[in-house]
Amino acid sequence: MTAVTDSKPRANRKGTPCPPWCATDHDEVLVPEKDGRAAIYFDVHTAKIGDMMRGGPWADVLQGESDDHPHVYIGTCDMPAMDPKMARAIAGLLESVSWLGKEGITVLAAEVRRAASVIDGAGAGQ
Ligand SMILES: [Zn+2]
Repeated sequence: MTAVTDSKPRANRKGTPCPPWCATDHDEVLVPEKDGRAAIYFDVHTAKIGDMMRGGPWADVLQGESDDHPHVYIGTCDMPAMDPKMARAIAGLLESVSWLGKEGITVLAAEVRRAASVIDGAGAGQ
């Protein structure tokens, strides 16, 4: 005898089908109903790689209703959405500069901003 399986495709509460990598429980209440305001659910598809609730560094795959495709989001620094290629470059950067310590990373970041400003035509100021 075979087990009965649920063949209904997963979707968020708006009916948008979940991508194969989505691990979000779209029925989980994020903010309960209160004072006449409806409960809030998480309709964004996530891979649940990082846990924003645990504190500390986290990153994850996100795809919201208005996104054409998934992106990598580094929640620790509220970094804008990145495509996988940029995300891998950032991961490599983080690993390669960890030896600098906080002060060295701050100096490097300032120089990177200055370099970008030169290209943008704003000069090498800040
Ligand atoms: Zn989903």
